[in-house]
Amino acid sequence: MNISMVGTGYVGLVAGVCFADAGHYVECVDKDKSKVDLMREGKSPIYEPGLEEVMHQALKRRRLTFTTDLSESIRKNALIFIAVGTPEGANGDPDLSALMSVVDEICKHATAKKYVVLKSTVPIGTARNLQEYFNKKCSVAVEVINNPEFLKEGAAIEDFLRPDRVVIGCVSNEARAVMEELYEPFVKNGHPILFMDNMSAEMTKYAANSFLSVKISFINELARLADEIGADINQVRRGFTSDRRINPAFFYPGVGYGGSCFPKDVEALIKTGTKYGVPMKIVQAADDVNDEQKLVLYHKLKKHFGSLSGLTLAVWGLSFKPRTDDVREAPALFLIEKFITEGAKVKAFDPVAIETAKKASTVPFETGPDAMSVTRGADALVVVTEWNEFRNPDFDELKKNLKSPVVFDGRNVFDPLKMKKLGFQYYSIGRQALNDANFKTVENI
Ligand code: NAD
Repeated sequence: MNISMVGTGYVGLVAGVCFADAGHYVECVDKDKSKVDLMREGKSPIYEPGLEEVMHQALKRRRLTFTTDLSESIRKNALIFIAVGTPEGANGDPDLSALMSVVDEICKHATAKKYVVLKSTVPIGTARNLQEYFNKKCSVAVEVINNPEFLKEGAAIEDFLRPDRVVIGCVSNEARAVMEELYEPFVKNGHPILFMDNMSAEMTKYAANSFLSVKISFINELARLADEIGADINQVRRGFTSDRRINPAFFYPGVGYGGSCFPKDVEALIKTGTKYGVPMKIVQAADDVNDEQKLVLYHKLKKHFGSLSGLTLAVWGLSFKPRTDDVREAPALFLIEKFITEGAKVKAFDPVAIETAKKASTVPFETGPDAMSVTRGADALVVVTEWNEFRNPDFDELKKNLKSPVVFDGRNVFDPLKMKKLGFQYYSIGRQALNDANFKTVENI
């Protein structure tokens, strides 16, 4: 099949490359010429494990091309995916201006029937509204299809090539047949393509991200209570997720969720609920808890040091999660800003996100060439993103480097008992330094 993929960010580029890998002919379109030039050379403008390898194969087989010429791509291809950004706008609603500019170009340049597939996450009702818009403004037939994306940055290629499910919202049997043919190579694992109406497809995407946000905020709130009471959240988690009805995946406490999707999708669902008179109270609570959770490490530092003024803090991890260079709504940037406004100096390291973080940060901060270098002379280490390479540092060196051995671990990457034995003052999220000595003989209870 011949496809236009408009917008080559974390979603569009991965989707385009994977469709090409499956044998389709994909033209990736982006308005950013520097990105297009880079991609033509086989280089990815974003960090995503495995992406460049698949991209090289598709380029070699001549299934993948890159262009800035949207109008020509619209004329040539019957199947047009829109994967541009839909960030949170000033009023909390998703900003659809990039999407609408592509829609208007389609109206202007389409000369034969088109299927327009919304890959971007859009407010519930967008496909219906756009269908009316095309019917009015476009001289040729256009059918709007909704195909929300569920990939996870950091595992995007694997998620796209072997999805848990593919969700398609569409109206006609023709559109259904087109999408079935397109996705057939990706569901050989037996996982389903779920066809539904457009509204339900749009709502499915918001429901998925909002539910995951609720899970995270639930465990984060429990972890805060565990910290106060002296229980251990890992034990609690193990205990209650052993119930087959409670899926343990994606259920770890930390420094709050961030990224380009959860915060804005949660906000969008809340807005939709308010608009239709059905307040999304549970999702609103998850959002409120997340705002508090982003400050948990800061409060722990304040409690330990009294004031942050004059301190030097080493920060490990800048991206909103490991295996990506994406720093949109990253808790690390939020914390760094807080530390610096409170008078601390920050030296940070991240394996791939230093450049994106420096560009996105509202405050200047120092960085170092590796994790250990930023700890030299620091008053404390603050772990914000759980990159694998942070999991087993040389603790002797770390102890020597820090002014005093204090570690604040926002992702529970180290073992509390081990840290205690090594002589660190160690703060994590909802865990205790438990060992067998906690189980006393009956006489000693
Ligand atoms: P992104 O910001 O990384 O990429 C958007 C791309 O679109 C950019 O390269 C930009 O230059 C390009 N663009 C903007 N306007 C354009 C135009 N008029 N013509 C051509 N190109 C244009 O965004 P993203 O993270 O890939 O997200 C895209 C959409 O997918 C969003 O709606 C997002 O909510 C959704 N989504 C994202 C993820 C994720 O993990 N990032 C996952 C699922 C869904």
